[in-house]
Amino acid sequence: MGVKQYLTFNFFVMAIKIDQEACIGCGACAAVCPAVFQLNEAGKAEVIKEDELECAKNGAESCPVQAIKID
Ligand code: SF4
Repeated sequence: MGVKQYLTFNFFVMAIKIDQEACIGCGACAAVCPAVFQLNEAGKAEVIKEDELECAKNGAESCPVQAIKID
């Protein structure tokens, strides 16, 4: 029938969340993975790019208070 099925890869299913209450602003995540995390003016971590999964995971693992969640 000539019907083609295309696999769709959703690269943006991951969601990186930082618990602003829990974050102590140590900067570890940004040091480990500056492509994804940076500290904002309030001294808390924020996400600047939601890809680089491995890098983001490493940053999350570096967090001493487990403030970073990756779904
Ligand atoms: Fe905040 Fe954790 Fe990043 Fe430190 S490693 S800045 S506590 S999110």
